[in-house]
Amino acid sequence: MPGLDARANLLKELTEAPGLPGYEHEIRAIFRRETNGFGEIEQDGIGSISCKKVGDDEGPSIMLAGHMDEVGWIVRHVSDDGFIKFSPLGGWWSQVMLAQRVNVYTRKGVFTGVIGSKPPHILPAAERGKVVEITDMYIDMGTTDGKVVTEEMGVRIGDPIVPQSAFEALGDGKVYVSKAFDNRMSVATVIETLRALQGEEHPNVVYGVGTVMEEVGLRGARTSSWIANPDVAFSLDVSIAGDVPGVDKHQATGKLGAGPVLLFYDNSIIPHLKLRDLVVETAESEGIPLQLDFVMGGTDGGAIHQHKSGVPTVTLCVPARHIHSHTSMIHRDDYDRLIQLLTTLIKKLDRDAVNALAY
Ligand SMILES: [Zn+2]
Repeated sequence: MPGLDARANLLKELTEAPGLPGYEHEIRAIFRRETNGFGEIEQDGIGSISCKKVGDDEGPSIMLAGHMDEVGWIVRHVSDDGFIKFSPLGGWWSQVMLAQRVNVYTRKGVFTGVIGSKPPHILPAAERGKVVEITDMYIDMGTTDGKVVTEEMGVRIGDPIVPQSAFEALGDGKVYVSKAFDNRMSVATVIETLRALQGEEHPNVVYGVGTVMEEVGLRGARTSSWIANPDVAFSLDVSIAGDVPGVDKHQATGKLGAGPVLLFYDNSIIPHLKLRDLVVETAESEGIPLQLDFVMGGTDGGAIHQHKSGVPTVTLCVPARHIHSHTSMIHRDDYDRLIQLLTTLIKKLDRDAVNALAY
């Protein structure tokens, strides 16, 4: 897209590409292409991909993990009159789904559908005020003939359904809107951090990993930890931006453009305290603004920190608005600073620095 630099174009490509949990192949291909020449590529048995960048092969192993999957839906059933019933893959709030366009990926191509419900105009007043359940929704493929959907379009049970949404720069050009910043932002961060380390010295071995199936239970983080075998890990994700109307500061503190976020707690991991403090000190000495927050969900760090006998791990984020919808939003400055923070941390983490993290 004209006007976008290389980093923005990679975010555009990664967020617009489809990649449900278990269906991450297009994201994996982009990861493989972008990291070509950076180091040795390895994959686990369920699709996570790792690029090993060696600074010092006697040094500690540092894992950066960003999940490649996004939330979406899969086909459960096609009715005789051509409507698709579906199930969510990952967490969806029904209110952000109705009347949205989606792409249905089949063996015959990509087809547009629209998420529909019984029209409110004919609902009894008592029902009109209620939230429509996902199980009562359907996808309208623009036909009344089930055979058009199953035969001409080739729709089958299990086909992935992904939000249709185009990347756009808003406001002063630094706020980006697209689907799936959760968590293509982090896949891009892994790639750009490896790129920033090209030609630089670093006293360790870095495994940049794109994990699979985080949205359904941190599955690829668990398996790919066996490849990286990390001494220290950084799990990367988006956090909830609280800078919108109606949110109290104690619910979510993150603000777009105010810097990357260090999670002091999420439901899957309590950060390693010494590593957490090293991140805070490093941000301060580098002049990188750092926001501190809680997230009430889980992250890949939840699986990684329990690998083998335990791995010092923290989760770093970029705050995002409207996640798990067609229109998530992040600020470019937060993204650039996260890459800068990670690059600085990696250069610091020699064997002594890692040994000093021991409790
Ligand atoms: Zn995520």
